[in-house]
Amino acid sequence: MRESTKLYNIFALKCPRCYKGNLFTRPGLFVFKSILKMPERCEHCNQDFRIEPGFYSAALWISYPIVLIVFVPMIFFGFLLKERFSLSLEMMLGFFIIICFGMQIPIMRISRALLLHFTIHYIGSGNK
Ligand SMILES: [Zn+2]
Repeated sequence: MRESTKLYNIFALKCPRCYKGNLFTRPGLFVFKSILKMPERCEHCNQDFRIEPGFYSAALWISYPIVLIVFVPMIFFGFLLKERFSLSLEMMLGFFIIICFGMQIPIMRISRALLLHFTIHYIGSGNK
């Protein structure tokens, strides 16, 4: 994926305005501390990330379809694996729960990044 595309910068959790600054104080999709802690402003373009009170509650509505898109096919894939390799349902459920916990943090972070990228438009780098 090219670094100049919106999709790349959503998954890289970069600022929607400049594509340079990080959206979170701890960058990366798999972080286990300060999961949703964001800086008040972009360190590169000074974009304010505190849009309005309760702004990020809309990210919940973005994460919901992402969860459906990721997990519904996984359920069918799980049943397919269960039939093919005759795995027990308990084993599949344990595997599924581990995947759910593993995907929780990336989905929450990507939802926030998507919300910001839908709201704020790219104006290029170098604008201070
Ligand atoms: Zn920025």
